[in-house]
Amino acid sequence: EAKHKGKSSWERFAPAMKEVSHERLQMESRLRRALELDEFELWYQPIVETQTGRVTGAEALLRWKSPAMGLVMPDRFIPLAEETGMIIPIGRWVLEQACAAMGRVEQATGLALNISVNVSPRQFRDPEFVATTLQTLADTGMDPQRVELEITERLILDNTIETAAILNQLDTAGLRLSVDDFGTGFSALSYLKSYPFDTLKVDKSFIADVLVSVDDASLVRAIITMAHSLNLRVIAEGVEEDGQTRFLQDLRCDYAQGYFYSRPVPEAEFLDWLRASPRGMDN
Ligand code: C2E
Ligand code: MG
Ligand code: MG
Ligand code: MG
Repeated sequence: EAKHKGKSSWERFAPAMKEVSHERLQMESRLRRALELDEFELWYQPIVETQTGRVTGAEALLRWKSPAMGLVMPDRFIPLAEETGMIIPIGRWVLEQACAAMGRVEQATGLALNISVNVSPRQFRDPEFVATTLQTLADTGMDPQRVELEITERLILDNTIETAAILNQLDTAGLRLSVDDFGTGFSALSYLKSYPFDTLKVDKSFIADVLVSVDDASLVRAIITMAHSLNLRVIAEGVEEDGQTRFLQDLRCDYAQGYFYSRPVPEAEFLDWLRASPRGMDN
């Protein structure tokens, strides 16, 4: 009876499993060609000073325009790019494009914006990572002080000597380092005093409910207080409403990012946003 059941569920699930792995293989082969076929695009989301609304920088967010699949969001392909190591050449491309774009933005608007770039754990473990990063900044003429590398707590969790050494090399070279998705990783907080981070990006899951959840409001308040006492700046992610902005202003949160200001947009729209933003060009 059990055997019979097992067989019938195998028969039911086998085709689905086959489909999943076929889909994955197809995705992988498409991803392998995406870089050379020039299918990636970087979109930009402004980061603003909470108190003044003045834009100080942008986060570069990767998009994949696949002829077969349409616009593919990073959560659908970054994990695969990490598993296969493809994130290494893709990540180099991202940094290069982001720096070049900030050069164009400066030409067009006169604003020397900072650029935040996401770095995945797999890139970080590439022995060439520091060298190629610094080479890219040199090639594009980007000031390292204007580049912030966003690293998730996940990476800091696999707490190795190399992590500290790499962070220190990047810090010495003048780059800024931030902890992305802060609060989601269950990390011990002690890493904050031993690593050269400049910024905490409070995860959007905490910001979402600050106006309705007393607990989330308390957590955000505590994170900002702690960060400031450790000399770290704070960026609130996922700010969608005016009320959240006022809450963050009251708490003296340094920077904010979210749909309230702008969604991530292609470079041309980002330039339009900067030109239209009253706080953008005349500050
Ligand atoms: P992240 O670095 O935490 O980026 C913030 C994500 O929140 C982005 O999703 C952004 O579009 C979204 N977001 C921004 N404002 C709001 C808001 O007000 N409300 C809501 N609900 N969401 C908001 P996106 O672009 O889909 O990127 C997802 C993740 O993919 C990023 O999370 C980052 O971890 C990763 N990623 C994106 N680009 C790259 C890249 O170039 N390299 C690597 N390694 N990872 C990347
Ligand atoms: Mg990020
Ligand atoms: Mg530093
Ligand atoms: Mg984040």
